[in-house]
Amino acid sequence: MPPEATSPSMPPMPHSLEGLVPLATNLRWSWNRRATDLFSQLDAGAWARAGHDPMKTLHLVDPRRLAQHARDGAFVAAVRDAAADLEAYLSGQGPYGLPTGAPLSVAYFSPEFGVTEALPVYSGGLGVLAGDHLKAASDLGVPLVGIGLLYRHGYFLQHLAVDGWQQESYPTLEPTQSALRLLRGDDGAPLTIEVELAGVPCRAAIWKAQVGRVPLLLLDSDVPSNRPDARGVTDVLYGGDSEHRLRQEIMLGIGGVRALQAAGHGAQVWHSNEGHAGFLGLERIRSLVQAGQSFDSALASVRSSTIFTTHTPVPAGIDIFERRLMERYFSAFARECGVGFDELMDIGREVHDGVAAGGTRFNMAVMGFNLAGRANGVSKLHGEVSRAMFSELWPGLPAAEIPIGSITNGVHAASWMGSEMTGIMEARRPGWIDTAAPDWSVVRDVPDDELWAARRRARLRLVRFVRDRLGSGAAGAVSDALDPEVLTIGFARRFAQYKRGTLLLADRDRLRRLLFGERPVQIVMAGKAHPRDDGGKEMIRQIIGFTADPETASRFVFLEGYDMELGRVLTQGADLWLNHPRRPLEACGTSGMKAAINGGINCSILDGWWDECFDGSNGWAIGTREADDEPEVRDRKDAESVYRLLEDEITELFYRRAESGVPEGWVQMMKASLATLGPAVSGDRMMRDYLSDLYRPAAASAGAPPPSG
Ligand SMILES: *Cc1c(COP(=O)(O)O)cnc(C)c1O
Repeated sequence: MPPEATSPSMPPMPHSLEGLVPLATNLRWSWNRRATDLFSQLDAGAWARAGHDPMKTLHLVDPRRLAQHARDGAFVAAVRDAAADLEAYLSGQGPYGLPTGAPLSVAYFSPEFGVTEALPVYSGGLGVLAGDHLKAASDLGVPLVGIGLLYRHGYFLQHLAVDGWQQESYPTLEPTQSALRLLRGDDGAPLTIEVELAGVPCRAAIWKAQVGRVPLLLLDSDVPSNRPDARGVTDVLYGGDSEHRLRQEIMLGIGGVRALQAAGHGAQVWHSNEGHAGFLGLERIRSLVQAGQSFDSALASVRSSTIFTTHTPVPAGIDIFERRLMERYFSAFARECGVGFDELMDIGREVHDGVAAGGTRFNMAVMGFNLAGRANGVSKLHGEVSRAMFSELWPGLPAAEIPIGSITNGVHAASWMGSEMTGIMEARRPGWIDTAAPDWSVVRDVPDDELWAARRRARLRLVRFVRDRLGSGAAGAVSDALDPEVLTIGFARRFAQYKRGTLLLADRDRLRRLLFGERPVQIVMAGKAHPRDDGGKEMIRQIIGFTADPETASRFVFLEGYDMELGRVLTQGADLWLNHPRRPLEACGTSGMKAAINGGINCSILDGWWDECFDGSNGWAIGTREADDEPEVRDRKDAESVYRLLEDEITELFYRRAESGVPEGWVQMMKASLATLGPAVSGDRMMRDYLSDLYRPAAASAGAPPPSG
């Protein structure tokens, strides 16, 4: 089968509808409504059964409907226009010029990528950020290629037992029915790379997803020539024991560098998104040493062109491997790098590790900093926290001079803005959503009642979505959940201890009064706990327990299976977005940004992005910046602060209506939030910051020859 052929199970495409194939195979559809509208019109039933995946839709579409549409002039014209628009986007024509024209090339490694729920190789914030990074690079014309793993069983699907205890199951990703293309060599055989795992060779095939202008390469160890245990290396995301993680990270870092070469991509700048991909630096050192350089000069050259982004101040989020394990996997590799095993271990040695040479543990974040000439945290506060946290690596240097900067995360507006809000902007500035640096101040000119009407429509869409989900669940139809006119609070995030998912349950009577008072609120929650985090699962169980009686369930809903689709509907529909992590453990957080660009108002601890973006009039701050309390005291104070804000300020502002029915104060705050936060939190700002602060300087100091691919 030639690389670009459609698969045998797909019905033959009538000539007049051929444009649907490129529209389905390029994941740009995930931020282009024009394209997705076509697939839903094509065959609404197939679109639903395909889980809103254009490629699967083409596999499932009824051939008779296909033939019908092929004779429908208006539909054919719409397909032609959308295909032409994609063509213009890809070649940077018209409104899709390449504003940055960056003469550099970046290889961006990440353990997960959340481009769309149709490609489930992400678990949460880190992956969604990586997906938005690719999309922003595509929009701005930054020559970037993503490298990750194709997890055949993705990340787990969440189901709750009747008592609220989380159960996990794993989906099966069938790449031949997706937008992925298997890379093949000139001889037509699949292109593969090989890494050695404790002396045993492990091969991987390379699948390519096209994300607008940006290719994403995903390595897949499930190839027939591998031994069974080697086939399972890329089975699931964040599953298995420490050794399994190590094997995946060798595949990602070392295999990733080899895959780039095999696919003909050159790179001047190498970016490791979080520490998991850090072995890429070792592989580059190895290949320079093999080409004749000394270890020290190879290290210097790798450092000058490598960027490391750290994503968490929570120690449990950092991978650490025992010396014995490392020895099995890296003693031969060290020799190929021209050093002894102890010297290789030193690259990841924690400073407080008692053993002088080599150390007893290998810390992936430490390696990240040691192999990268440039490093950053993901918000201003997180940069500060990281400088303190890793100061030992730069003994004698004052905290302010520790070379860890920060670039605050952003969200890809075209992917996360709902049609209600996009419609408002586009009505005033046609093409607003496609411009490289959209003007958010447009919102100041929007009449209050128009903005409010859009808000109500988005909330109603959320309410309907929730009722639909609940109605189709095993629990039986609960079609009267939620009230489309009640102040709706959204809360969706991983159930990890520091995020304090049960903070609102601190005083259950007070919470009930909020739900059923004169100025009521309703809450929609979602989130997964890591399969091995019983503490996180216990929090979910408590919430399910609290919402068990039908009355409470009408105002407080927990939805299973938080994914990007649910994330969109929730952040687009919620009036208020709540976030209450234990400061300063939230590195950045991005769901609140998604709410902000949709006219939702943030009510959050001054942590992560909110610490730098809250200005006193664009939302609410929970608690204070002080941190000198015991955690339990802090939790009590923060819970008190949330209750008070909700009781005294938030519900008051929301329900204080003008004669027209519009809550003018609330709408003013929506406008302040959109106008001040829009430009600050959008992905294009983030990508420009990466370009100016990290990519361009790294490309300059690397001084590498121009890319070959
Ligand atoms: C945006 C998003 C996240 C990250 O949100 P946080 O605010 O960092 O918790 C996680 N999961 C999904 C599905 C998302 O869409």
